Parts: sequence; C-alpha cells; structure tokens
Amino acid sequence: MAKKDIDWGSLGFGYMKTDYSYVSNWKDGEWDEGALTTDHTLTLSECAGIFHYCQEVFEGLKAYTTEDGSIVCFRPDLNAERMYDSAARLEMPSFPKDRFVEAVKAVVKANEDWVPPFGSGATLYIRPFMVATGEVIGVAPAPEYQFRILVTPVGPYYSGGVKPVKLRTTMYDRAAPHGTGNIKAGLNYAMSIKAGVEAHNGGYADNMYLDPQTRTYVEEAGGANFLFVDKNGALVVPQSFTDSILPSITRRSLVVVAQDILGMEVIERPVKFEEVKAGEFTECGMCGTAAVISPVGQVDDDGTEYVFASGMKEVGPVMKKLRETLTGIQEGKIEGPEGWVVKIS
Ligand SMILES: *Cc1c(COP(=O)(O)O)cnc(C)c1O
Repeated sequence: MAKKDIDWGSLGFGYMKTDYSYVSNWKDGEWDEGALTTDHTLTLSECAGIFHYCQEVFEGLKAYTTEDGSIVCFRPDLNAERMYDSAARLEMPSFPKDRFVEAVKAVVKANEDWVPPFGSGATLYIRPFMVATGEVIGVAPAPEYQFRILVTPVGPYYSGGVKPVKLRTTMYDRAAPHGTGNIKAGLNYAMSIKAGVEAHNGGYADNMYLDPQTRTYVEEAGGANFLFVDKNGALVVPQSFTDSILPSITRRSLVVVAQDILGMEVIERPVKFEEVKAGEFTECGMCGTAAVISPVGQVDDDGTEYVFASGMKEVGPVMKKLRETLTGIQEGKIEGPEGWVVKIS
C-alpha cells in the first residue's frame, strides 16, 4: 500500500478525483449487481428525471485512519437507513441497506491509498447518492436510477482550531415544504443556497432556520442540527413538531454520549426562539459529520444580537466535552457502544 503523495494537512473541503467510484443501476424494477468503476463521469439523456423534477437523494459519511492504522467508518448502517427513507419519500427505489454498507466498505478499500493518515486531521469523505437517470417528461417517477458512491479526501473542517461562530435568523425556509425537511436531498439544499449566500455575505457562518409555519421554533442550520445547554447543565435537543429536522447521525450519537457516557440529563423538545432571546441557554452548537460540533457564540435576529453565555471567545465546556468524547470514540481511544466504529481494513 502506497499512500498518495498529498500534503494531507493543507487539504480543504473540496473534491478531488480518486481511483474508484461505486455504481449500481436500477432498471426494470431491480438493482444490478453493482461494481467499482474508474469512470468518474455520468452521461445522461437531456430528459433524465434528475434534470427536471429533481429526484435525487444523498448521504455523507467519512472513513479515517485510527491510531493503530486501521481504516474505519462511523455508523454506516444509519446512513443506509436514512438514504432508504429519503428515497422512499421521493418515490425512488430504495437501495438495500446491507448492500449500501457493503458498497461503502468496497469503495473505501479500493481507495485505501486516499485515506488520510492518523493525526493529519483529514478524512476520506464518502458521498453516496442516487439520481433519476431514466427519461421522463410528464411529472412522475423516472423509470431508471443510478446509485453511486464517490469518495474524496478532505481537510480538517477547522484549520485554525474550533472557534465559535455567529449565525443569523432568516425569513427563508431551509427545506422544500410539505414534510421533506427530514430527508437528505439536493432539493432541500437548493432551497437553502440563497439564504446561505446572504448569510456569508453578511459575515455569518450559517442561518438559524425557524419553523416555516409559525417562525417560533428553532429547527436547524443549513446542514447541521442544533444542540443547546440550559442553565441546569442539561442538553436540550430541538424537536420539530412538523418532523422537518434532518435526523443527524452525529446528533443522535451525541445524545447517547451525553446520556449514557457522560451521565447528563438530555431533554428532546420543541425549542422556542424566544428562549434563545431570553438567554435561557448557556451554550449552543451545530452538529454534523464534517465538523462534529461547531460552537455557536451569537445569533443575530433582525439587527439584535443575542450572545450565548459561553460567548464568542472559546468553545463552552459542555460542547467541548461532548466533542472530545465523540471524537475519542471515533478514534478508538474511548470505548463506545457496540457497532459504532466499523472496521474496513
Ligand atoms: C447531513 C445533514 C445534517 C447532519 O447529519 P449527520 O448525519 O450528523 O452528518 C444535518 N442537517 C442537514 C440538513 C443535513 O443534510
């Protein structure tokens, strides 16, 4: 095995072509056996369903090297399950969950030389996705689909260490309406790009999206769930009464870490934005695969700044502890629940 000649430490979060991708096609009601491919392009009919009615779902996870040199990934079964659910919501054929996990392992193993070494801060980002490839002109599910996995090495999410960020509220919605907010699909991201660009132009890291019906409850950020810490030190996890928060695997894992490993009280409930304004929370964080937890120091709402007690200077103690414990489990330094860290090679 010869690692690629890459300056792992200076990688950013970008795409780089690797050796192999994985492909399987769905036609006449079934998936073919699937295979690795060195072809990193798709050639499609101009009438393919993806171009017109946006039938696309995706996933995101990472493979990385642990201290003992093993290549592992984290809870891929949950990505398989979530993609299964996302596909069903868009009337796309679901890819079998066991095959999903096997395909992830196969494509990572084939690209072993692209998995960044332990301690570099970089990881191999894995992006499974499914698109409608069959031709369709009337609004209907397409007759053919492709499931594909691309992998690409990415740099540490924080090059300069983990620092709190500033968010803002927005009148835009994060997701397409009617209960699609809980699926991982490009169509939801298409909805959030304008709000994201405006946030960045205003000097904000992201948006704090409120529920689209009443604009009263905190939902999530563009691509990360929120976590709060209340004055009693309990972890408060926003719940959506319309089921429009994406079920983040990082968030679900952190809930287990907080409850079962750190012995914290965890409260999953709808969270009013008024509570943020009233200073009810000492800490706030955004969680997702790429960054694990990004601390939030401040939220601006229509020109008024609301600063969390933990502030903009450094990560609050609870978010810090949660982050260290989960990354410790991922790196194999702390024993986590059975089956969380899956060995690939
Ligand atoms: C992927 C994603 C997350 C984070 O989920 P993880 O499984 O923790 O990576 C959160 N919100 C949205 C909208 C997402 O697409």
